[in-house]
Amino acid sequence: MSAFSALTATNPAASTRSAWSVLKFGGTSVSKRSRWDTIGRLALARRDESGPVLVVVSAVSGVTNALLAIIEAAQRDVAQAKSLAEVLCDKHREFAASLDLQADAVIGQRFAELHALVVDTRAARADFGWQAEVQALGELMSSALGEAYLNRQGIPIRWIDARQHMRAIVLPNTTQWAARLSVNCHIDTSDAYRAGFAEQGDLLITQGFIARDEAGQTCILGRGGSDTSAAYFGARLQAARVEIWTDVPGMFSANPREVPQARLLSRLDYEEAQEIATTGAKVLHPRCIGPCREAAVPLWIRDTERPELAGTLIDASAVDAAPGVKAISTRKGIVLVSMESIGMWQQVGFLADVFAIFRAHGLSVDLIGSAESNVTVSLDPSENLVSSNVIDALCADLVAFCRVKVIVPCAAITLVGRGMRSLLHKLSDVMAVFGRERVHLISQSSNDLNLTFVVDESVAEGLLPKLHELLIASGAMPVEETDVFGPSWRQLSGQAAARAACWWQSRSTALLALADSSPRYVYHLPTVRARAQALAAVEAVDRRFYAIKANPHPALLRTLVDEGYGLECVSQGELSHVFASVPALAPQRVLFTPSFAAREEYLLARERGVRITLDSVYPLEHWPELFHGQDLQLRIDPGFGSGHHEKVRTGGKGAKFGLPASRLAEFLATADRVGARIVGLHAHIGSGVTDAAHWRTVYSQLAGLAEQIGTVESIDVGGGLGVPYEPDAPAFDLDAYARALAEVKSAWPHYELWIEPGRYLVAEAGVLLTRVTQCVDKLGVRRIGVDAGMNALIRPALYGAYHEILNLSRLQDAAGSPADVVGPICESGDVLGRRRRLPDRTQEGDVLLIATAGAYGAAMASTYNLRALPDEELLDD
Ligand code: ADP
Ligand code: ASP
Ligand code: MG
Repeated sequence: MSAFSALTATNPAASTRSAWSVLKFGGTSVSKRSRWDTIGRLALARRDESGPVLVVVSAVSGVTNALLAIIEAAQRDVAQAKSLAEVLCDKHREFAASLDLQADAVIGQRFAELHALVVDTRAARADFGWQAEVQALGELMSSALGEAYLNRQGIPIRWIDARQHMRAIVLPNTTQWAARLSVNCHIDTSDAYRAGFAEQGDLLITQGFIARDEAGQTCILGRGGSDTSAAYFGARLQAARVEIWTDVPGMFSANPREVPQARLLSRLDYEEAQEIATTGAKVLHPRCIGPCREAAVPLWIRDTERPELAGTLIDASAVDAAPGVKAISTRKGIVLVSMESIGMWQQVGFLADVFAIFRAHGLSVDLIGSAESNVTVSLDPSENLVSSNVIDALCADLVAFCRVKVIVPCAAITLVGRGMRSLLHKLSDVMAVFGRERVHLISQSSNDLNLTFVVDESVAEGLLPKLHELLIASGAMPVEETDVFGPSWRQLSGQAAARAACWWQSRSTALLALADSSPRYVYHLPTVRARAQALAAVEAVDRRFYAIKANPHPALLRTLVDEGYGLECVSQGELSHVFASVPALAPQRVLFTPSFAAREEYLLARERGVRITLDSVYPLEHWPELFHGQDLQLRIDPGFGSGHHEKVRTGGKGAKFGLPASRLAEFLATADRVGARIVGLHAHIGSGVTDAAHWRTVYSQLAGLAEQIGTVESIDVGGGLGVPYEPDAPAFDLDAYARALAEVKSAWPHYELWIEPGRYLVAEAGVLLTRVTQCVDKLGVRRIGVDAGMNALIRPALYGAYHEILNLSRLQDAAGSPADVVGPICESGDVLGRRRRLPDRTQEGDVLLIATAGAYGAAMASTYNLRALPDEELLDD
């Protein structure tokens, strides 16, 4: 074994066969000298370990795109195409120089071919064969440079032309486009082929992506097709394995660039991997699984920059029966064709007729939805040439049979995993997300491996992180199964927020002593002050109010008033409470922002002299005498909501809060009649918001309205600042928040800017201590019972919220097997945390700490089941 392979993760397939290894390196993996050094080392290591090696390479990163741009240009502007071609040659010259090579000596011939192709007469008609020849140059150049570089390093690798081996097959109904630009290849598994291949040497380098047809002409396998070339070679050579070396350390439960919380999938069977690849995970070309599965060749996805990471292994042994969502993926650019005709579904031959038209236009249908009078199908652009010409021609033919509507651009969002049908009950939160949007088509595959939602592309934007989070929270994605689910992308890429030390980490003895009575909340006042001061440093803000509903403990109110905060109340009870807790409080420092409150509450607020906020015309219309002569604040519904859960989004049609801007004129006229003045505008879109752009949007919207009103002095953008509940979640980006507010403040400096945070000030300052009552195993599920249930902390039951839970009595113990932490309430939803890895020795009497419980913990506690309210204690050091 070479020194280098000792560095790399254990090779799971090495001992099973002693044959070829096929190592495929993608665009970024061949774009730097250091990566070619890795390629050389890996190739030698594999050869020494297990036998001959074939290296398959992509074009240098960005080159295929550049060639496509040249193809585009050559059809209409040859001069531009020529200059783009020159830029591409220069790019290769520069890259070759970084390898200490003379590009013109190694690939000068390819440069000449490129220039000749630019002026080829086939360019004008965008001939498919000509396009293939242009695109093939990328891989031809990278492989030649690689060979020359490795040879120079003393590695005797030999270049072979993939077109001598990859022979395209013509399937029935193959279009001219597919026959040159999206080919499938013949798999010759004969001993004779293998023997002949082996004669070329035991260390070879070739191109991915390219093949030849029966006539010997160049064709390509389609975007991302180098993976499939490697798979074809692997199958033909009966390889020990095909290794796909790329820029991520494996296949993840979602595109890690979009979902940092996505988990590495350590093991997958061919079927699931196929489904994940087909439904959008670009890390594997969809067609590359088939050849490997047929030939039982394992596929191993690895990270070229970090060869020490174990990656994803795909083979037949990974089949596990337990149902669960393994991944969520998206495909964009989907075209939906909706066909409508009365009674057509039952009409014999209707589908045959319309599908014949799709066939005639060379289109393969992906998803199908049908109803009595409508059939809707989707077309995937990676499998079809879905140009507007093709779609127009299709529609022209379809109108003879039905009314046709084309819906573009759409995105297909797919959940992949075994046993999807038996998971539906866990998907209610996911369904709720889609329920808010327009879903054009839902499709559940007959192999029970996927569930797809087709929506407008704009809807899919940014939706994946939320859906991924919900899949984990609901238990539909069983991330606790560590055989399959590895670390998150964030952890692997070192982006996991190095958690700022939590105050409770260094106070376990004091906290254990405080747990003599449980359940008990403990609040750390220095943390409240620290948050208050951090927020007070946001310069654009003129006034700050603490939304006391998050935690009305009198000591917290006094602390925050001392820090210069006003208080925001939402009920008569809260109003009485704040004046009792902070007797010297001036009424000008108090806001009253109730929701659907009774007349008497407004009356009392008026008598106390606090600033009242209204959010509908009703109070003005029905109780004009209450508001005569008053300076009021008006709560606007900005028309959209945001936040960590459906139940905390407070904007939009579905939410009860706020006056829609469309009724502003009516509100102002009524206020005028009543003799009230609107001096402030307010909006609060939700809670747990992490994107600072939200407040900028809200402020701009309110400022626009304020300009129309004329009497407005202050704009209150509410609270909603998110806090990190998961241990590796990033802290709220206060700098981005400060920048966003500074921007809007400088655009409208004549308004005072007010904010009303609640959670942000107190959540992290509070923990809930609870004692273990019973530990029970039932039918394979481990449960740890505690004396705090949903009566003490309702957030997990109400919102599916996550709170970190640890065993304070056994901080030194290692993580144990997964257990649900459950409370004593007679409700099946009384679960504080699912599949938590508390120490195996956790036992009756241990003290558990539930973190980040300072906001909406005690405040929402109840005596349900006639259990006493939890205690509250303070720490001030
Ligand atoms: P290469 O050039 O090596 O072939 P690709 O860009 O084709 O690399 O594929 C790797 C990319 O696939 C990753 O950088 C990532 O952005 C994307 N990707 C999409 N979905 C997934 C997923 N589920 N797991 C891993 N990567 C994914
Ligand atoms: N170079 C081709 C592309 O970018 C093929 C590949 O990299 O897989 O699509
Ligand atoms: Mg790729």
